[in-house]
Amino acid sequence: MKIHKNLDAIFNSIPNNVKLVAVSKTKPINQIKLAYDFGQKDFGENKVQELINKYNSLNKDIKWHMIGHLQRNKVKFIVPFIHLIHSVDSYRLLKEINKQGFKCNRLINVLIQIDISNDNSKFGFSYSEFEELVNKNELNSFKNVCVKGFMGMASFTDNQKKIGLEFKSLNNFYLKYKSSLKLDTLSMGMSGDYKIALEHNSNMIRLGSSIFGSR
Ligand SMILES: *Cc1c(COP(=O)(O)O)cnc(C)c1O
Repeated sequence: MKIHKNLDAIFNSIPNNVKLVAVSKTKPINQIKLAYDFGQKDFGENKVQELINKYNSLNKDIKWHMIGHLQRNKVKFIVPFIHLIHSVDSYRLLKEINKQGFKCNRLINVLIQIDISNDNSKFGFSYSEFEELVNKNELNSFKNVCVKGFMGMASFTDNQKKIGLEFKSLNNFYLKYKSSLKLDTLSMGMSGDYKIALEHNSNMIRLGSSIFGSR
């Protein structure tokens, strides 16, 4: 089976400490089940409705990752079950996640998305915006949110050196805050660039097409 073969090849090529998130967006339930049967338990989606439909249709021991831009009015639908939100891109979103986390009595694990690319289409905090949040001590006021680390998407380019520099700078930023903020997750790398991301300390990669084929 292609999906099993792909997963096997990926697991054989990444270090043990690296968590693989299988990005199943647009892919049908039966393909997710194939990956699940191979032992894959972490899946990522980028649209709330699709995420909820898949959560309802599949085994409850799956860890669901929200990796796409999240609208504040939709936070309440995923907070009861979400494992990790990678795409926290504003203070107002963080505040809403905290509010909804409180309502369902859960501590919601999140990553701060940092805009490390030159692409206008990408969301995220700038480095200085996040720095400001920390310096103003704003993170501590959110009792139902736990910031575990950062997520970044490199520029859409063939220039490997540029991609490497973007991952390198996010890793430096991660290392700067790792101990003081008790961070443990650096989510960098997609099918096209995860090998570069792993050279720069990534410990969570988000792979879609290299597992399930192109979309
Ligand atoms: C779609 C997506 C991925 C996976 O992309 P592939 O190129 O298919 O591996 C990873 N991260 C995010 C945020 C995505 O939207």
